[in-house]
Amino acid sequence: MKKEHDVRIDRSKLHPWMNYKLTCLLRECGKKGIYLIVTEGFRTKEQQDALYAKGRTKPGKIVTNAKGSNYSSQHMWGIAVDFAINDSKKLYDTNLMRKVAKIAKSKAVGLAWGGDWKSLVDTPHLYISKWGSTTTKLKRKYGTPMIFKETWKAKVKRPVGLILWQDIKKKKQYFRVANNASVKVLFRSSIKWYAKVEKNGKIGYMNKKYLV
Ligand SMILES: [Zn+2]
Repeated sequence: MKKEHDVRIDRSKLHPWMNYKLTCLLRECGKKGIYLIVTEGFRTKEQQDALYAKGRTKPGKIVTNAKGSNYSSQHMWGIAVDFAINDSKKLYDTNLMRKVAKIAKSKAVGLAWGGDWKSLVDTPHLYISKWGSTTTKLKRKYGTPMIFKETWKAKVKRPVGLILWQDIKKKKQYFRVANNASVKVLFRSSIKWYAKVEKNGKIGYMNKKYLV
């Protein structure tokens, strides 16, 4: 196995939360001496349709049940990635894939695994399960990925500036964000007071009422 991860996707197109979880996944896998190739991330409607055609109107095996035109792939919503093992002889080694899935599902990462699906088991697929295991909820709530993307960023509204914090090895490090600054929104808690945000690559929490 190669001793480094090989990330072949444009991470800036992922949901900021997925991107953060990918950082956690790569870190945790590295600790166990497992190195990944990240093969797929965000997909456009056209890319998804081309994939859907495989095994149907184009040669090859069927690899997806998700059509591009109805936004039914999690990849089109930026909340999924696909991985392989960074070892040309063990690319999709069952044991290693299982180990990665276990790490991905652990508390340190918090992703769900396509290998747990009942129909069209998809072992390279990892996704955020907040909206369930399909895109039905996302479609109902947001309609299209374009509208969903609007929730990935927000402006900070509080004239005196804000204090965020970041938990680094249990020491709390504080940093400020100016009024009107834009931040990436990983998620807003629906029941608690906070939102998890990213600013200049730093992850922190802030009061969600100051986000517009
Ligand atoms: Zn996938």
